[in-house]
Amino acid sequence: MIMNKGRLIVFSAPSGCGKGTMLAEILKDDNFYCSVSATTRAPREGEIDGVNYHFLTREQFEKNIENGRMLEYACYCDNYYGTLADEVDSKLEQGKNVILEIEVQGAMKIRELRPDAMFVFIVPPSIGELERRLRKRGTETDEIIAKRVAAAANELTYAQKYDYIIVNDALEDAVSDFRAVIKAESLKTEYAAEFLDGVMKNA
Ligand code: 5GP
Repeated sequence: MIMNKGRLIVFSAPSGCGKGTMLAEILKDDNFYCSVSATTRAPREGEIDGVNYHFLTREQFEKNIENGRMLEYACYCDNYYGTLADEVDSKLEQGKNVILEIEVQGAMKIRELRPDAMFVFIVPPSIGELERRLRKRGTETDEIIAKRVAAAANELTYAQKYDYIIVNDALEDAVSDFRAVIKAESLKTEYAAEFLDGVMKNA
């Protein structure tokens, strides 16, 4: 591994793509850190404030926007979601690969703000399978599931704006594809200048 600084990785997937399970697997590796977003959505059963999200009121969230604390934010299914700037740069400096698990509007903002970021989009094998997974999860009402399926269909239209597409059909394959992408990125010429200098000096 040639890079010293971590990579900023935007990781998007419509809800029901199994992104949570994929991330749990990826985060077993200490070199990765998943930024904890802020949201105005209510916690689901088992979710912990400060671990899954920073759960904020609308007023608190809007204050953060006013104070310039949000690197990006978006409104998704009637709630605010956003990345706290503090969550990102300190971890990158520590050499961690920082994952932003965010939806497409936020991802497009990061595309403008952070040319150093890489963009990975996770797709389900089909929209039908995505709906089945959402129903199986059993955490949302029919109305919210319908909203999320519609949001997913919309999000899929953004997939081609990402650098890499990974199909999450079998978890193991999807995680292995993700690791392959990270490996290839770490070997890009643009990160090797300093290393190559060293190679020449130590001839
Ligand atoms: P959920 O309610 O299922 O946890 O998340 C709903 C959507 O919000 C997901 O697509 C997730 O990626 C997105 N999301 C979570 N955190 C952020 C964030 O900080 N910024 C943006 N733009 N989207 C986020």
